[in-house]
Amino acid sequence: MHRAHAFLAAVVFLLATHDAAAAWHEDQAAIMGTGMRVELWSEDEAAARAAIASVWREMRRIDRLMSTYKQDSEISAVNRDAAKRPVAVGAELLGLIAESLELSRLTDGAFDITYASVGYLYDYRAGRRPTDAEIDAALPAVDWRHVRIDENARTIFFAAPGVRIDLGGIAKGYAVERAAALLRARGIEHAIVTAGGDSRIVGDRRGKPWIVGIRDPRASGRMVARLPLVDEAISTSGDYERFFEADGVRFHHIIAPASGQPASQVRSATVIGPNATRTDGLSTSVFVLGPERGLALIDSLPDVEAVIVDAHGRLHYSSGLERPGKAT
Ligand code: AMP
Ligand code: MG
Repeated sequence: MHRAHAFLAAVVFLLATHDAAAAWHEDQAAIMGTGMRVELWSEDEAAARAAIASVWREMRRIDRLMSTYKQDSEISAVNRDAAKRPVAVGAELLGLIAESLELSRLTDGAFDITYASVGYLYDYRAGRRPTDAEIDAALPAVDWRHVRIDENARTIFFAAPGVRIDLGGIAKGYAVERAAALLRARGIEHAIVTAGGDSRIVGDRRGKPWIVGIRDPRASGRMVARLPLVDEAISTSGDYERFFEADGVRFHHIIAPASGQPASQVRSATVIGPNATRTDGLSTSVFVLGPERGLALIDSLPDVEAVIVDAHGRLHYSSGLERPGKAT
């Protein structure tokens, strides 16, 4: 073999081994009470595994801070004591509560973490719901204005009795946003991180967009739309995630703060935008607001779009999307 050929063969061999190591890596886990998934492109198997492990560690850390199911979480301490005295919390929980209150202001109270003051009376697994009298008794505690933040002392105080908060409408988006930042810091340029209905996309799918489907709320496995996305977040709130049926009515987990009952105008609300914390909070908001007020809100914001499946199964698009396929 000529030297030039030998050199070429070595280069080809190096390229081949290089290519063999570069691959898509995928993993799944159950954290924050939901199914999670990471898929990323990496040229190094060990680096990929380490990156995925760091995502799961981050998700578990956030869950320990913000889960109302864990008695020793910061948020459980707030719910126990904040009606009696200001409760000191870390900057991270304080920040997400502050962002939630901003969203309440923006949505005229459709998004409201104090929904939990009546929300805790529903048990979707046991199929239990509150009576009208129980809802009436709990409803005065549902008002985001009861939640007082002292930024300097870093405390949360509830200005009324019976107030409870829950970050279920925004924490998964926050978690996937954090995960995406961790992956980028490790040099990952192509990835998707999903937690339940919330996904954060890093980069493209190597030369093409990621395709994210919006499922048919009444036929799992069927899609009502497919959106090509690059470097974006997408959140879907659906009445099929957690629900039970009684007397022909679907009692699901997204509560209209004004009535204390499940919001009824929408089957699913999807929001696309640059930040998953934001798209998560907004998808829950649009679900509660309904098609008309929800799309008016989305169209008033510069960098987000929405797709709604209404209570009759009809599709509605925000003005930046207008028709299917014109997603970006
Ligand atoms: P998502 O799937 O993001 O819409 O989140 C649904 C979760 O948000 C529910 O399981 C509750 O924990 C929480 N939630 C329900 N109703 C509201 C509301 N009106 N405002 C804020 N969070 C809510
Ligand atoms: Mg949400």
